[in-house]
Amino acid sequence: SMSNRSLLVTGGAGFIGANFIHYWSKKYPNDFIVILDALTYAGNKRSLDAVLDSGRIHFVQGDICNEGLVADLLSRHNICTIVHFAAESHVDRSITGPDAFIETNILGTYSLLKAAKAFWLDQPLSQGAPERQHRFHHVSTDEVYGTLGPTDPAFTEQTAYAPNSPYSASKAASDHLVRAYHHTYGLNVTTSNCSNNYGPYHFPEKLIPLIITNVLQEKPLPVYGDGKQVRDWLYVEDHARGIDLVLSKGRVGENYNIGGHNEWQNIDIVQLVCGLMDQKFTDDTTLIERFPQAVSAANGTSASLITYVEDRAGHDRRYAIDATKTKLELGYSPQESFESGIRKTVAWYLENDNWWRPLL
Ligand code: NAD
Repeated sequence: SMSNRSLLVTGGAGFIGANFIHYWSKKYPNDFIVILDALTYAGNKRSLDAVLDSGRIHFVQGDICNEGLVADLLSRHNICTIVHFAAESHVDRSITGPDAFIETNILGTYSLLKAAKAFWLDQPLSQGAPERQHRFHHVSTDEVYGTLGPTDPAFTEQTAYAPNSPYSASKAASDHLVRAYHHTYGLNVTTSNCSNNYGPYHFPEKLIPLIITNVLQEKPLPVYGDGKQVRDWLYVEDHARGIDLVLSKGRVGENYNIGGHNEWQNIDIVQLVCGLMDQKFTDDTTLIERFPQAVSAANGTSASLITYVEDRAGHDRRYAIDATKTKLELGYSPQESFESGIRKTVAWYLENDNWWRPLL
């Protein structure tokens, strides 16, 4: 049975981790979840307000680099599944200060792997005890594959790693360590490589929440370079569903790409969000269909805040995900349309001013 498991979720107070906890506790209410999160600037316990008092979710503030602490949590709660989100995640910060990225993303993942191996593989089982089922799921990014030209085929799981930023290099290193712990020691690992997520509880330094919250403050909307960088966008709950499927049906030792089939130029995303902010959810439901031609031609109030700034150093031009393997093997496809996901997201920020204002 899939119920009554004990999971350790690292980074559960971050954007995707918190959304994952909401998703998981609703879908598997009998599971027990231990959240390990250092509460860096990006971690926010308030994102978990709605679930923390359920009694099935236990929050521990601590660092994944602390192997003793991780070992203690694994054995104290007899953890069978680790879902590893904790990371430094902002590319710009990795350019100005890579140390924390090396520390958390590489050494932190290594610390978890060592503790998991010690707990799940190195302890002798007592006579007659059933073999421990275990899984280490590592949450990674499409950025490890590097950058694409406008007509290049999308990344598959066979695409060679070619990370270009300290962030993506640190994630690539962690992916390799996870892989090695499977091939060398037999740890049951899976890795998912996902495209850009959007949705509630996203820290306001990231593109979509930055645009929404800056418009609300009438502050400039910074757009890097020519704004024509292309990203694939996936609603965060669809990422959680993808991880759920990898955990239940994925083969150990494998990587699974998760994407939204939803490529947008950054400038078009900015214009789109501006258009939605101008409408403030009146009854125009055709905005996204008409986009971008109709909207970029219009000069709405919000779009007048757009300010082009010098491009990010080493800025990747395009990411695109080919998720054929995940679709065929696991039956995965995203469920939220972009139209509805982006509207929900804008609405969430309009309604949850008390979540994001204190973070500015
Ligand atoms: P986030 O920055 O919002 O959250 C990261 C969380 O990890 C925070 O709660 C933070 O407090 C915690 N953390 C950081 N260092 C820690 C440490 N040393 N020990 C314990 N906890 C620590 O990040 P996110 O956007 O939610 O991303 C989660 C994971 O998903 C990351 O591994 C990221 O690489 C990956 N990912 C993100 C995206 C995206 O679009 N955001 C896309 C693909 C993959």
